[in-house]
Amino acid sequence: MCGIIGYVGLKQAAPILLSGLRRMEYRGYDSAGIALLNNSAIEVIKRKGKIAELAAAVPDDAAGSTGIGHTRWATHGNPSERNAHPHVAGKVALVHNGIIENYAELKEKLAGFGVKSYHSDTDTEVLAHLINHELSEGRKLPEAVRRSLSQVEGTFGLAVISADDPGVMVAARRGSPLLLGIGDDSMYIASDASAIIGHTDRVVYLEDDQVAVCRARDYRLFDLSRRTHQPSVTTLKLELAAIEKAGYDHFLLKEIMEQPTSVANALRGRLDLKGGTSHLGGLNVHDNFLRQQERFLIIGCGTAYYAGLVGKYLLERMTGIPVDVEVGSEFRYRDPALTPGTLAILISQSGETADTMACLRELKRRGVPTLGLVNVVGSSIARGVDGGVYLHAGPEISVASTKAFTAQVVGQLMVGLQVGKARNLSLRTGREIVRALESLPDAVAEALKLAPQVEKLAKKYA
Ligand code: GLU
Repeated sequence: MCGIIGYVGLKQAAPILLSGLRRMEYRGYDSAGIALLNNSAIEVIKRKGKIAELAAAVPDDAAGSTGIGHTRWATHGNPSERNAHPHVAGKVALVHNGIIENYAELKEKLAGFGVKSYHSDTDTEVLAHLINHELSEGRKLPEAVRRSLSQVEGTFGLAVISADDPGVMVAARRGSPLLLGIGDDSMYIASDASAIIGHTDRVVYLEDDQVAVCRARDYRLFDLSRRTHQPSVTTLKLELAAIEKAGYDHFLLKEIMEQPTSVANALRGRLDLKGGTSHLGGLNVHDNFLRQQERFLIIGCGTAYYAGLVGKYLLERMTGIPVDVEVGSEFRYRDPALTPGTLAILISQSGETADTMACLRELKRRGVPTLGLVNVVGSSIARGVDGGVYLHAGPEISVASTKAFTAQVVGQLMVGLQVGKARNLSLRTGREIVRALESLPDAVAEALKLAPQVEKLAKKYA
């Protein structure tokens, strides 16, 4: 799942799109492209490989104050310029993250309307044709997108422009993250907040099956059943410096070195030495509820799953409650036995992990109460759970997780303190753990002083 950026406003779109794509490079991708809408003409530029190659191919005078951009991680069709997004069908240009599961059926349906030639091997292009077909029947762009998406099975974060609608950009999501940025005479769409910082800090997180119609000075939201939605605007608390390398050679090193601060931030204001416990305002649970729980179910993918394995040792000891840890991608596809008295804890750095999200939906359907341990504020999992703890580790850019992992372990310790306190964790043990946590940032800093020795050893064993 890669990057989407969109712009509509009074400025030239191309530099904004390219800088947004560069900010999302850390997510990994195989190709990139942009589409610019200028006086009812759409110009598309795409390249396989790095954004630098795409940027070199975009002329300095590339005009258009409406545009969309994309970094692709191929799921259907190999990585190539031909399969890179945006995809164009008739008057429509589209960028898409996710998978159109029923693209083959949609293709058959389109064949019935005479649509037979495709320029790529992607699932995405089918959707572009579907929207173009809806337009060709006289519908407006927002309605064409809505009707098309109602026929889609799968996941999407997308942005669409049409040659007939200069100054309009339509976006929608299901299962892939997408947010709107509200600027001065400018609207942005991005799959990742890092793409728009510096432009605006006023954002609206789109919900599943919401469609946004954006113009320079206004926007509106509705859903696939045509119901209008009132947007809830939040302020993005993300600074440009936090997503830059701050003098380190790479993000992995920077994030390892940040751990004294990230651990301190995760703990800040939450420990209570006197009571031998923690105060986690976001948990939204009463002590009585915690006393009734009979089982914890921790769910995560990758590193978050490993953090859960550590959490099992900690939580069982602190709370006396049996803990099961599950990989999200397994849990979602089996028929898990869920007994009453189960409390689920979902762990995710991004808060957008697709498999963990699917588990959350299943748990909600089955009436299991859910807590989230999430790093990214306002993310889908954070918004979907009944309660939870933000990890406050700051943006984690490196794909090898470090500071988010330590924050996830610390987060579980704090949950353990609060649950333990409501059950039978002694005041003495509680205080010991709180004291240990308070001294943890310094201990981490001390350990990191070994970096030069570690580097020598790493070279030897590599
Ligand atoms: N399924 C689409 C493709 O293969 C989108 C991939 C992505 O999310 O980047 O082109």
